[in-house]
Amino acid sequence: MADEVSKTDEEWRQALSPEQYEVLRKKGTERPFTGKYVDVKDKGVYRCAGCGAELFSSDTKFESGTGWPSFYEPANRENVELHEDRSHGMVRTEVTCKKCGGHLGHVFDDGPRPTGQRYCINSCSLELDPAT
Ligand code: FE
Repeated sequence: MADEVSKTDEEWRQALSPEQYEVLRKKGTERPFTGKYVDVKDKGVYRCAGCGAELFSSDTKFESGTGWPSFYEPANRENVELHEDRSHGMVRTEVTCKKCGGHLGHVFDDGPRPTGQRYCINSCSLELDPAT
């Protein structure tokens, strides 16, 4: 299925910062405790840094201690896609933005209530749209 937002590799390279490009388009991972949203508790909507899709609400953000922003559920389940990821000798579930196909992070089953899920997301995949 084609992504709703589709750019060539060169267009993505120009639209994103080098770090965002590495994570969103090349499935990279930012180093823990370095991302700009790790400790942020501001209210608002976290949008995709690639396409602006609404991905996570600050209301579901929690302190995971992992060094990456963590959420117990997406703002809208239909805006993210899950994929089995067998890279790096592990079996994980990758989370991507449905609209642009950008890599966001992974989801694990060791999260808090009410869902028990932990969406472990790279800061640089996100852009916080502050509540006004
Ligand atoms: Fe996106």
